[in-house]
Amino acid sequence: MDNRQTLYDMAMDSGCTAAGWVGKEALICRQEVRDICAGNGCGKYGTTWSCPPGLGTLEECRAKLMLYDNFLLFSRKSDLEDSFDYEGMMEGHRAFAETAERFHEKLRKTGLDFCLLSNEGCTRCKKCTYPDAPCRFPEDQHGSLEGYGLIVADLAAAAGMKYINGKDTVTFFGMLMYNE
Ligand code: SF4
Repeated sequence: MDNRQTLYDMAMDSGCTAAGWVGKEALICRQEVRDICAGNGCGKYGTTWSCPPGLGTLEECRAKLMLYDNFLLFSRKSDLEDSFDYEGMMEGHRAFAETAERFHEKLRKTGLDFCLLSNEGCTRCKKCTYPDAPCRFPEDQHGSLEGYGLIVADLAAAAGMKYINGKDTVTFFGMLMYNE
């Protein structure tokens, strides 16, 4: 069986609109990305175990990435009415999070040793337990790509994928990390 083709197909069947492989050398964890997280432009900083500072230090995130040998970047593009369509952007993120969950459920059934990261972190629980209690599903949480210090545009370039998919669209990304 071609494992790569199977996983690619699984991502696309889950609702992704593109996917591509990233080499380990492209995974560069940058403090400056974490500094942008701390500016809290997305409103998630300090609200979930899947974003800084609850996600762990940059060194801890880097160490987690290095546990895996294979990396499949995936994305879902959604259309907007115009570039001010905030509701459409929220809807696009919701659709992406559902796609990541579907992909996760399919992966779980394979018995693969894996972890999923996603744009803007984990949406698994209606309300994250942070900071009052430990994460409910530490093995299954979707850590934030940005929280890991990764520049998503660079990952997309490394994977041969489009970071921006044209006027009046929004594209969210996630990454499957796994060992054979
Ligand atoms: S699994 Fe639940 S508790 Fe853990 S980071 Fe995600 S939303 Fe928070």
